[in-house]
Amino acid sequence: MSHVLIIGAGGVSGVVVHKCAAHSDVFTQITLASRTKSKCDAIAKSVHERLGVIVETAQIDADDVVATTALIKACKAELVINVALPYQDLHLMDACLAAGAHYLDTANYEPIDEAKFEYKWQWAYRERFEKAGLMALLGSGFDPGVTNVFCAHAAKHHFDEIHTVDIMDCNGGDHGKAFATNFNPEINIREITQNGRYWQTGTWKETGPLEIHTPFDFAEVGEREMYLMYHEEMESLVEHLPHLKRIRFWMTFGQEYITHLRVLSNVGMTSIEPLQYEGKEIVPLQFLKAVLPQPESLGEGYQGKTNIGCWIEGVKDGKEKRYYIHNICDHAECFQEVGSQAISYTTGVPTMIGARLMLENIWKRPGVWNVEQFDPDPFMTLLSTNGLPWRETFPTEAHPTP
Ligand code: NDP
Repeated sequence: MSHVLIIGAGGVSGVVVHKCAAHSDVFTQITLASRTKSKCDAIAKSVHERLGVIVETAQIDADDVVATTALIKACKAELVINVALPYQDLHLMDACLAAGAHYLDTANYEPIDEAKFEYKWQWAYRERFEKAGLMALLGSGFDPGVTNVFCAHAAKHHFDEIHTVDIMDCNGGDHGKAFATNFNPEINIREITQNGRYWQTGTWKETGPLEIHTPFDFAEVGEREMYLMYHEEMESLVEHLPHLKRIRFWMTFGQEYITHLRVLSNVGMTSIEPLQYEGKEIVPLQFLKAVLPQPESLGEGYQGKTNIGCWIEGVKDGKEKRYYIHNICDHAECFQEVGSQAISYTTGVPTMIGARLMLENIWKRPGVWNVEQFDPDPFMTLLSTNGLPWRETFPTEAHPTP
């Protein structure tokens, strides 16, 4: 018997709840709570119609630690899955400690008034979780998440030393909207408008936002321009891959997307500085989020595929080796299965897998952990059997970057 409490009822949550319900032998009781209860009810209705499983719902402000602690206790949750926003991470970790529940999330903490995401705030909880005999699993989505597990799999099965990692995230899909983000617009735009950063020979190198870019030919998508960005999984992989010399993260964007972003940025709409508007304080980016399409609304009619993976180079048995591992996911197939687009799907499936491994005591260790710190094999097996099969190749050419 495993009771799980899922917080947040957006695009990713919809997938997590459907996928947990599809494993009702492990997730025997599911409670879904979020700021807007009607969104929880809509997901619960879809789960009941598709899978015949009943999901309990509740209203919660996850920033209210006392109320969240009471909710965790009331539904006797063994594990809290945080698919709300990164702003809630620390409050939910506090509530888990107070209520005696394990914790899992998909995105590392960032303060609401500063677009700066780092693991240091959550890693600082290590001792408290360890002492309480509780486990927190950080970043169990796709990137971070699967990309970290891909590196752990490469380290275990293909390399003696990993020297370089290039994580490449391509969305070759078309949702038919002039401009929309595939996950929470506020978090997404904060991430993309930051300076780029990559790690080489022991130091972080900074670039302008989206300054470095190069074309790459993605299988089943075609050639796309990919842009060097900072992304959070690099921080933990730098810690956990001992022979690493360089790690970079690339994401593809179309010209139309970049033009919209540039204009919105130029006119101040992506700013997180509060300003007064007709006597009320507003944050331009939060207002922009309110007028943009919600990620969970993009699924219908979304065509095309995502292709996300890791290009890894290093040494095996004294010889140089190249290895490329990736997943391809079809937007329309995700919509048919759980009513979502592929970005939410590729995030929500690994969330369920991480939770399942914790509840089955396969990945279970008190403390605060990143996914690459566990045996990748059971995770990789569950990816293949739960809608995210992976492919590996051994390229003969070097990585085509500037
Ligand atoms: P959405 O904006 O669609 O959903 C967020 C949900 O959280 C909404 O239902 C929102 O409520 C709820 N929420 C916000 N604040 C609170 C609060 N204080 N208390 C309770 N609920 C709250 O986002 P996504 O589903 O697209 O993304 C969810 C998470 O997944 C984000 O943290 C994102 O960064 C992460 N992510 C991770 C990826 C990965 O690969 N690792 C990839 C994509 C996303 P309301 O409905 O009222 O607004």
